[in-house]
Amino acid sequence: MKTSAQVVVIGGGVVGCSVLYHLTKLGWSDVMLIERSELTSGSTWHAAGGFHTLNGDTNMAALQGYTIRLYKELEEITGMSCGLHHVGGVTLATSPTRVDHLKAERAKHRYMGLETEFIGPEDIAKLSPITNVDGVLGGLYDPLDGHLDPSGTTHAYAKAARMAGAEIVLRNPVRETLQRPDGTWDVVTEQGTIHAEHLVNAGGLWAREVGAMAGVYLPLHPMEHQYLVTEETPEVYERDSELPHVMDPEGESYLRQEGRGICIGFYEQKCDPWAVDGTPWDFGHELLENKMDRIEESVAFACKRFPVLERAGIKTVINGPFTFAPDGNPLVGPVPGLRNYWSACGVMAGFSQGGGVGLSLAEWMVEGEPSRDVFAMDVARFGSWITPGYTRAKVRENYQRRFSISYPNEELPAARPFQTTPAYDIWKDQRAVFGAGYGMEAVNYFAPEGEPLFETPSFRRSNAFAAVGAEVRAVREAVGINEIHNFGKYRVTGPGARDWIDTIMAGRVPKPGRLSLTPMLSPKGRLIGDFTISCLEDARGAEAFQLTASYGAQAYHMRWFQSHLPASGVAVENVSTRRIGFQIAGPNARELLARTTRADVSADAFKFMDVREMDVGLTRAVVQRVSYTGDLGYEIYVGAEDQRALYAALTEAGEGLGLKPFGMRAMMSLRLDKFFGSWLREFGPDYTPAETGMDRFVAYNKPADFIGKAAAAAEKAKGPARKLCSFVVDAADADVVAYEPIYVGGDIKGFVTSGGYSHFANKSIAIGFLPVDLISDGLDVEIEILGDLRRARLVTEPLFDADGARMRG
Ligand SMILES: Cc1cc2nc3c(=O)[nH]c(=O)nc-3n(C[C@H](O)[C@H](O)[C@H](O)COP(=O)(O)OP(=O)(O)OC[C@H]3O[C@@H](n4cnc5c(N)ncnc54)[C@H](O)[C@@H]3O)c2cc1C
Repeated sequence: MKTSAQVVVIGGGVVGCSVLYHLTKLGWSDVMLIERSELTSGSTWHAAGGFHTLNGDTNMAALQGYTIRLYKELEEITGMSCGLHHVGGVTLATSPTRVDHLKAERAKHRYMGLETEFIGPEDIAKLSPITNVDGVLGGLYDPLDGHLDPSGTTHAYAKAARMAGAEIVLRNPVRETLQRPDGTWDVVTEQGTIHAEHLVNAGGLWAREVGAMAGVYLPLHPMEHQYLVTEETPEVYERDSELPHVMDPEGESYLRQEGRGICIGFYEQKCDPWAVDGTPWDFGHELLENKMDRIEESVAFACKRFPVLERAGIKTVINGPFTFAPDGNPLVGPVPGLRNYWSACGVMAGFSQGGGVGLSLAEWMVEGEPSRDVFAMDVARFGSWITPGYTRAKVRENYQRRFSISYPNEELPAARPFQTTPAYDIWKDQRAVFGAGYGMEAVNYFAPEGEPLFETPSFRRSNAFAAVGAEVRAVREAVGINEIHNFGKYRVTGPGARDWIDTIMAGRVPKPGRLSLTPMLSPKGRLIGDFTISCLEDARGAEAFQLTASYGAQAYHMRWFQSHLPASGVAVENVSTRRIGFQIAGPNARELLARTTRADVSADAFKFMDVREMDVGLTRAVVQRVSYTGDLGYEIYVGAEDQRALYAALTEAGEGLGLKPFGMRAMMSLRLDKFFGSWLREFGPDYTPAETGMDRFVAYNKPADFIGKAAAAAEKAKGPARKLCSFVVDAADADVVAYEPIYVGGDIKGFVTSGGYSHFANKSIAIGFLPVDLISDGLDVEIEILGDLRRARLVTEPLFDADGARMRG
């Protein structure tokens, strides 16, 4: 065994082997994999081996497509068989909402180049004659679905890696991982210590324990999962071709042919987290005890859907554990707060996702960043707020909802409320309907008296529609108030603060008393943040900055800041939950602020993009004159302990001004009036400044050699191939969500990034990309919404305050 390597991967399941292979594929050959027992000794050996592309997150679906196409490459490289059965698969729809869901998925697939197809019950019966199609309205057929041999595939990854120089050491548990001061690692194994520059935790069922060796909590949990294999069945073996997969969401089951019988697995409601206090080290090639009572109801339902099951005897029952993260997506990437420590765990569908996980992680390690936006599986999408209790509740919920429809407006109930601000009860008393993001509750809208305190999940406009409309009008016609706690906020101080921000951000750093908007770029010139910077100066001339961005990107942004901080002279603090307050916006906002402070807030004294420290009511506040509503507005920041006093001052002063609270649904409608983009919708690592219009905030000529400067300048010189534009859509009762294809002259030419309903303009709005040579004001296009092509017109003039007179006045 070598005693040093550039990378040590811990864990020889399908994921660890895929990471190892992809590192070699991208050119790193001094890489090792350490396995406690034999390859496949965790979840991998008892997997049912099914693979599919369907995933609620579009980028995850694309990575699943990559994984599935990779198997042929592996077979060719190694000469080994992955036991591939590309039999295709169909997901059944037994309700109109499921039809909506599958049609929405199919629309996204078109943009991704995946060839799924919505088919009728007769076609389903032809494809899979063992399926009883009574009550089936149709289904989504995916020719890429299939199954494989889990062990053969894992060994093929391993062989391909070995052929490119990787070393694999078996029967060698890792006991400790110790970091040296220079950031490299000593990996202490039973057979000796290996000094590694990088460490990858691909410990699967033991990823929690492996993480704990480095003091890391990885939010994942194993769940038990059962599938059955039947005896040989004539309806199966008398056919001359193999049966396709059938996913039956109503029955929470997946079914496929296994040899001359049938394999059917269940995501049952009566499920339980396994090994709550840790996965035993001596767990290995054994299975868990069968728990048929848990799946009795599911089996009874399956017998109706697939009557052949009643006649087929059960040959084997497999009950094995595998791990889930709270949202069901993997945990991949650099672990925040630790140098050179990489996560490749929480992969619940190793045979659909393992290739994409391996590729993305290897790109990250070798090339510095993944080639596409992988935020949906970034380990940093959860922050230090996450706890085992939260993880367990969410993992259980996720398991139970494996086959449930994911609605764009849905808020899931488990582990809530978790984190709240002091204003939580104030809103609750006003009939707030909450959502949660990054563990924190935020108001979505206020339900009028007599309406339910619950937004019905839907692909179409929901029961919140009228209430949100009223909130929007209150902002545009008088003044609205909402919380600004759900921004990520970072306080940057120290003598080197200005220069550091100048290199980390692509835009200008504001003078004291001013704000600026700026993108943050990766070295390849991709958008990794859209920030507001504010600068305040104290009496001694020391500057302090507040950087504000998306609340959900806190760990993602802090990881970036920490890995780019100089040794001294700059301090960055995440103050997101400590600096909170309210935004007030609308034509009466200035009058409201003036009534609460003795500071001069007249238009000349306190201009658009100014920031001032002032007393507001009883509180000492920092007030920024800017608003994401696109209206005259102010963000008022105070310490969390002062929030209720600030609220009291604002509401008292709001008497007679038409002050009304509004929630995030109204905020997202208001931003559409100005076509303002938002993080991970219009702005994210898949896109660049020139494509998104963020180039207007890039200071290409500033002296600082900011990160991404060369790439951004090169892109600007060449000109982007596509650009964001906005559309007014001739919608019926459903608006766009994201990734719907945009057709020009009958061909798909672009896709939607986000949109919704502008309650101010009474119009359905979409924002999306089109090739630059097609873009012109008034262009007629079609956008696919829930299977229907809706006419839409490209618009360039904002729907509200086009000249900015109100916002800046
Ligand atoms: C019943 C069942 C059915 C399933 N069906 C499917 C399916 O149809 N399709 C699909 O895609 N997925 C399926 N899965 C899920 C799939 O098995 C997992 O997604 C996948 O195996 C995860 O692989 P992994 O490499 O992350 O983890 P694991 O397979 O758990 O591998 C982790 C490895 O790390 C090693 N290790 C841990 N700690 C150490 C240490 N300290 N030192 C050295 N080595 C260590 C372990 O020995 C193990 O080999 C199923 C799972 C179950 C239980």
